[in-house]
Amino acid sequence: QKVGIDAGGSLIKIAFQERDVMHYKKYPIGELESAFSWLKAVAPNVMAALTGGKAHIVQEKFFPNGTIVPEFQATCEGVRLFLLEEGKKTPDPYIIVNVGTGTSWHLVDGESYERILGSGVGGGTFMGLGTILTNESGFQHLTEMAVKGQKENLDLLVKDIYESDEPPINGDLTAANFAKGLNVKHSGADRMAALTNMIAETIMLLTVQAAAIHQVKQIVFIGSSLIGNPFLTESLETYMKMLGLQSMFLKNGEYCGAVGALLSI
Ligand code: ATP
Ligand code: MG
Repeated sequence: QKVGIDAGGSLIKIAFQERDVMHYKKYPIGELESAFSWLKAVAPNVMAALTGGKAHIVQEKFFPNGTIVPEFQATCEGVRLFLLEEGKKTPDPYIIVNVGTGTSWHLVDGESYERILGSGVGGGTFMGLGTILTNESGFQHLTEMAVKGQKENLDLLVKDIYESDEPPINGDLTAANFAKGLNVKHSGADRMAALTNMIAETIMLLTVQAAAIHQVKQIVFIGSSLIGNPFLTESLETYMKMLGLQSMFLKNGEYCGAVGALLSI
């Protein structure tokens, strides 16, 4: 029995392999004890591969014989396997965008991979700034608010500036995020929609430039921030289409790191 564990900034992702079946689970990073007690109970001699920023802490406390796998290697190997399993012709070269607590970009070409970019705007921003803006909390709750909101009540669009004049670029593009401030009446849901859109736009702008520099057309999105977050994923999908890039959202994509780590033992 083998287990791959990806202990990131927000969540612990566990891929537990029992014969040929893979089981997936995730826990908040503050719940290490409950995350591993069941595992230790069902598989006391399990072989563990650990990755992510908190891999060493998990090794020290729970799996002293566990193998540490570098995070970027685990992520890219996991994505490669998931693409194969989904029967998708591996679209080399491609860029992986991992929307975790922060966001990382990896360029994959054949056997080689390289981390090319990072941004502090990611799922942690969604949670932290989302709570500050709305006084509400909980990932699922905030995602539900975002779906119900109207970002136009906060975002200033190009057409708002040009009013009745013909704008030189698409009038529906954002001229300035949140710029309407308190000029327009808005709700917490509207703030969540504007925040989610700002995160999606930031990721889109960095992705399109990375794709141009490296001449890549195929983008693979992973990370727990996208799971059950339809407004963020649909915004990203729309923006990628608008820019002529192909996007793919992997099923169980948030477990790429855990599965990639597991592959190396
Ligand atoms: P990093 O890779 O940046 O160190 P991580 O591996 O912990 O962090 P992910 O698990 O990919 O990152 O994504 C974390 C994000 O997922 C959170 O910031 C939040 O936006 C979102 N998320 C999804 N489900 C939950 C949940 N149940 N509890 C908390 N956050 C969640
Ligand atoms: Mg991570």
